[in-house]
Amino acid sequence: MAQATTTERFLGWLKTITFYELLVGMKATMSHLIHYKPITLQYPHEKRTLPDNYRGMLALLRYDDGTEKCVGCDLCEAACPSRVIRVVSAEIPGEPTKRYSKEYSMNMTRCLFCGMCVDACPVDALGMTREFEWAVYDKRDLQLNKQQLLAIGDRSFPVREKRLELQHQNVAFFNVAFKHVPQKPN
Ligand code: SF4
Ligand code: SF4
Repeated sequence: MAQATTTERFLGWLKTITFYELLVGMKATMSHLIHYKPITLQYPHEKRTLPDNYRGMLALLRYDDGTEKCVGCDLCEAACPSRVIRVVSAEIPGEPTKRYSKEYSMNMTRCLFCGMCVDACPVDALGMTREFEWAVYDKRDLQLNKQQLLAIGDRSFPVREKRLELQHQNVAFFNVAFKHVPQKPN
């Protein structure tokens, strides 16, 4: 028993003079130093790979014939928890059953990028792009109008959908305002 105690005391003394606990504590640090791999990206020269479901700057979209998808229904404005969106809708001249957004603006200083406006839109007129480099010196530059939002959509979604009437024939068949009604399939 006395022998064991002497051994333990010797080991304790050895640990003290060799800073054993300190070395154990530094093990993870030393391991990182030896296998050093930088994790800092030198932005803007290096850029991180964005996840597939990244939610960046919002955009307004068009159909493949250039028509704006937005029908001015205001649902995005109602769904937005931060009051980012403002829509002023009007009838399409000569087509009283159809509406469009005469004015559409977004105050992007308030946006949470939650995507609720995109989910609320019944015609998929809104999209979230992968654009994130929108730092500005004047926050008034983040008050985007319809033409700016359409331009973002044009560059971010170059492949556009066909008009809704042409995607779903039943929509066209029952849409009395659509001039070129395709034949309903048998
Ligand atoms: S992403 Fe969210 S906060 Fe931003 S405009 Fe859409 S609903 Fe509003
Ligand atoms: S973007 Fe969609 S939800 Fe918003 S007003 Fe236009 S059609 Fe309606």
